[in-house]
Formats: sequence, C-alpha cells, structure tokens
Amino acid sequence: MSSIQQKLINQNLIGMPHQDLEEFFSVIDEKSFRATQIMKWTHQQGITDYKQMTNLSKPLRDWLSENTIMQMPKMINEEISIDGTRKWLLRVDDKNAVETVYIPEDDRATLCVSSQAGCILDCTFCATARQGFAGNLSSAQIISQLWFAEHHLRKQLNKPRVISNVVFMGMGEPLANFDNVIKAIRIMMDDNAYGLGKRKVTVSTSGIVPKIDKLREEIDVSLAVSLHAPNDEIRNQLVPLNRHYPIKELIAACHRFLADKNRKHSITFEYVMLDQMNDQPEHAKQLVKVIQGLSSKVNLIPFNTFPNSGYKRSTDEMIENFKEILQTSGITTITRRPRGTDIAAACGQLAGNIKDEVKRQRHYEKLYKADLLKQKVEVQCVS
Ligand code: SAH
Repeated sequence: MSSIQQKLINQNLIGMPHQDLEEFFSVIDEKSFRATQIMKWTHQQGITDYKQMTNLSKPLRDWLSENTIMQMPKMINEEISIDGTRKWLLRVDDKNAVETVYIPEDDRATLCVSSQAGCILDCTFCATARQGFAGNLSSAQIISQLWFAEHHLRKQLNKPRVISNVVFMGMGEPLANFDNVIKAIRIMMDDNAYGLGKRKVTVSTSGIVPKIDKLREEIDVSLAVSLHAPNDEIRNQLVPLNRHYPIKELIAACHRFLADKNRKHSITFEYVMLDQMNDQPEHAKQLVKVIQGLSSKVNLIPFNTFPNSGYKRSTDEMIENFKEILQTSGITTITRRPRGTDIAAACGQLAGNIKDEVKRQRHYEKLYKADLLKQKVEVQCVS
C-alpha cells in the first residue's frame, strides 16, 4: 500500500466533500463516480453500512468496511419543547458531547449546528463561554449533526425531507474552525447530499475580520454578524474579540463581503437585548449610523437567561422602542421570538458536555478577584 493510501486509512468518509471523495477513490484506483454513489447512500438515503450499498462492487464494499470509518454521533439525550423545538445532546467522541437544535416553523425547518466543543471566545452573556473549550469539531462531526437530524426526523415525522435551513449558531465560533466548517458546508450544498441553497446556510460570527474575508473568497453563503453593541466601549465588554477587531474594521469587512461576487442578499446583524446595557434609544440611533449604507437587517434577540449570567433581559417596551427607531430609519428589524426556552435550547443557552482544556474556571476566578465579574462563576463541564 502506498503512503498516500495509508494516510487515507481510517478516515471518516462522512465528512468528505465530493472533491475529497473523488481524490480518495482515485488514490485507491476506483472510478470517480464512486464519490457520488457514496454521498447519495450516506447523505440522501441515510445508509452508513457499506454492505447495503448495492451498486458498489463486493470487493470495494469489503475494502471500505475494513479500511475506513463511517461513524455517526450517538444521541445521548433528546428534549422536546412545547413549541416543537428539539434539542439533542450528541456524543462526538469519547470526551465530548455537543448540542444541536431543530427549530420547526410553518414554512421551514432550521437546524442550528455546533462547530466547536465549547467556545474559545468569551462573550460575557453566553452560556457556552462558561464551559471552556475542548477543541474544533471535524467536518464529519459537523455534518453528522445534519445527517442525524435529517434521518432521525424523517423516520419520526414520516416525511421525505425535513431540514430546509442550517445556521451555525450552536456552540462555538465557526470561523475559528474554518476549514472543517467549509467542508461541511460544501456537503450541505451538494445536490448529491442535502442540496441546500446559498441563502439556506448561514454562518454566524462574532467578527473575526480576516476570516470573514476568507469566507467571502471561498464560498457563497449567508452571513450573520453578532454585533450586539453600537460602539466599541460596550462591545469590548460584551464581545472581548472586539478589542482585536473593532466595529469599524468589522463593518468594513461586511462591506467587502457584499461587494464581492455581486452578492444580492443582505447581512444579518444579531443584537442581544440586555437591560440597561445596550438597549437605550441613543444606542439604537448610534446603531443606525454604524450600519448605514449596508444592505442588512437586524435581528433583536431578547437575552436568554442562564444561571449566574449577571445580565437581565430588556423589557418588551424597550425592545419595541429600539425596533421602532431602527425601522423608522429604514432598517428591516425583526425581534427573534425565543424558541425552546423551556429546554434551554435558545440562543446562547447551549452547553453540551465538554471537557474544558483551557482552564476557564481559573480565568473566571481571576476576573472575579479583579472585580471584573459581578458574581462567582462555576464552569460547567465534565472533568
Ligand atoms: N460564535 C458565533 C455563533 C454562536 S452564538 C457568533 O458569535 O455569532 C449564536 C448567537 O446567539 C450569537 O449572536 C450570540 O451572540 C447569541 N447569544 C449568545 N448568548 C446569548 C444569550 N444568552 N441570549 C441571546 N442570544 C445569545
């Protein structure tokens, strides 16, 4: 066996986009159309047992069974909200489990996927941040969340197709796991797999500017930016990454994103509504100035609470006022209805079960001692 062949051994084929599969089959001297066949079996039909892939030759099936992996996540837990939202805890390896959320609506069904086990960023209002970080998910671990949701629900709901949209708004920062996220997106968009259109896949980022540029060059998808504040002073507190990539640079990257590839769709700005913090009328007016001239819409997200968060949700009246100011200035604004709050499946509530490798507990203790954190925080993770 050649060294290239050896390198390919024990790869999880579920995480390979079409091009990678073609290369894989050419290395083992198989025809390139095997890539299409494997994708259709696994992603379209939900079949992962090579024995059942009847249009592959028997020797090839045997070879694949012996030399490659076709591994799917194991469901540890399923919770179903009164509004139909479902949250799954999926075991992705022997240490970590991540959360994936299914959000059904009248005209679509959205899957919110995780891109990392935990998160390296430290947004102060987000439950995932309190968990620390255990690592990037592989492309297989990302796409298998969609595989699991689609095929699990097809059976349960007795429907031929279920998921129509995917948002990278689960655990983690997708642009910090760039290559694996791109591979997973290529599979999502492939007609031999899930065939999702470019408007149906949304990458949500806290604003890693160089990676927004890279995303723009690499692939055509929808972009959501977690802005959350109208000025650097507030954003530095809420999204510490802002100290590296301040608002002006972030907005410039958004302009470049839309200018390239003649993108017709707009950018969505996410804005969590925190009582007294970023919800005042003057903040709305500042926000209008910041995003003026960009084809965009704003999603106001009423803050979803979690234990010891230290923040409060803005009142409905403040949210309504804020929205009014934006809309009067011509900015399409939607207040995101919290979904699945009874099962802690709403934005920023995902926690999974991960092994913290970055000693976040110590980090919080330091912040608390320096008076930078109002309450003591216990990191929730497996030890
Ligand atoms: N890291 C990516 C994606 C994950 S979070 C990002 O920052 O965009 C998905 C969205 O939920 C982000 O806009 C995030 O800021 C928001 N969010 C996080 N915690 C929240 C909370 N407690 N309440 C409401 N929204 C929250």
